[in-house]
Amino acid sequence: MDCLIVGGGLIGMLCAHGLAREGAMVRLVDKGPLGREASWAGGGILSPLYPWRYDSAVTALACWSQQHYADFSRQLLDKTGVDPEWERSGLLILDGDESAEALQWARKSNVVMEKLIADAVLTCEPALGSRWLSALWMPGVAQLRNPRLLRALKQSLLQHEVDIIEHTPVKRLMVTGNRVTGVETATGRLMADRVVLAAGAWSGTLFPALQQRIEPVQGQMIAFRVPPGLLSRVVLNNGNYVIPRRDGLVLVGSTVEYRGFDKETTAEAREQLQVEAWRMIPALAACSVEYHWAGLRPGSSAGVPYIGEHPQIRGLFVNTGHFRNGVVTGLASAQLLNDMLLGRKPIVIPEPYAILE
Ligand SMILES: Cc1cc2nc3c(=O)[nH]c(=O)nc-3n(C[C@H](O)[C@H](O)[C@H](O)COP(=O)(O)OP(=O)(O)OC[C@H]3O[C@@H](n4cnc5c(N)ncnc54)[C@H](O)[C@@H]3O)c2cc1C
Repeated sequence: MDCLIVGGGLIGMLCAHGLAREGAMVRLVDKGPLGREASWAGGGILSPLYPWRYDSAVTALACWSQQHYADFSRQLLDKTGVDPEWERSGLLILDGDESAEALQWARKSNVVMEKLIADAVLTCEPALGSRWLSALWMPGVAQLRNPRLLRALKQSLLQHEVDIIEHTPVKRLMVTGNRVTGVETATGRLMADRVVLAAGAWSGTLFPALQQRIEPVQGQMIAFRVPPGLLSRVVLNNGNYVIPRRDGLVLVGSTVEYRGFDKETTAEAREQLQVEAWRMIPALAACSVEYHWAGLRPGSSAGVPYIGEHPQIRGLFVNTGHFRNGVVTGLASAQLLNDMLLGRKPIVIPEPYAILE
């Protein structure tokens, strides 16, 4: 089987990886270098933020991925020597207004979550200021370093002889009758019986049915350089979070801005992220901000991605619209899409992700 994947972010690369491992001939085309858009910009938290607020379709993908990411990262490290730094840091949620609802969701979803009171909050993360009266603690939540995951994946794709075509924008999909036949790029046509559209925030520009459904949502992040060991948990408060990396970087994210395809960073966002970070971890006030960047999330309604074959165009598959959760749901999304492509029993019920005309 041959397959052409449009978009070499995490979603496209994971699809390509799974298909190549099954022996398919895979071609992956990107307008830029692989893995430099949203998937690179993201935080790598392997859980939706406030997970109880999400549709069960997001939870189902997140749960499957959470069960498989540790092994997947280890296999990538063994094969490529690049460590995605999967780490079970846990997630501490400081704004606990919804704790009754959250704890009920956790019980129902079989997720470990407990409510910590006063001293227990500080014991869990000593770098916090002391004024937090309670928090929700999710010890099972892991993170990984997404730029390294992407680097490892690219290496592994090359080992599997995936045909990677970078710096080649796809201009349009080619459809004859009710079948996809390939894509037209800036430098010529690429023919294929099966095309997977995984172009993230840009997916709507290539496919009218997605134009109203996928929109770019900018997210800005900053990173402090701190002494390693200052912080060990991912901490979330008021929609913002801090993520400790092994080498002493602490990432702070993220804004949610509807500004079209604008990827510029702003002084206001930097200031806002700094203030939120200092509120959570006072010691950060003495540390310097080393990086500031932005990415465009593929925003979709309720954050539920579109995964599956187009009902009218045979051979055209989509895997896009992961919004704020494309890293945590990505592994499962790729597995589900590939299950459909290869005619296997799907890992989760596919209907909630169907793309309807
Ligand atoms: C600041 C920020 C923080 C985030 N934090 C997290 C987190 O902690 N956990 C989590 O799970 N998720 C997080 N996310 C969300 C996650 O990063 C995204 O949902 C995910 O990366 C989307 O992956 P993708 O492959 O669909 O998109 P992308 O990574 O954007 O990839 C799309 C690719 O398609 C290519 N492309 C586009 N148009 C064309 C074309 N015409 N021709 C060829 N190629 C094309 C692009 O160049 C790009 O490489 C965050 C996102 C941001 C921005």
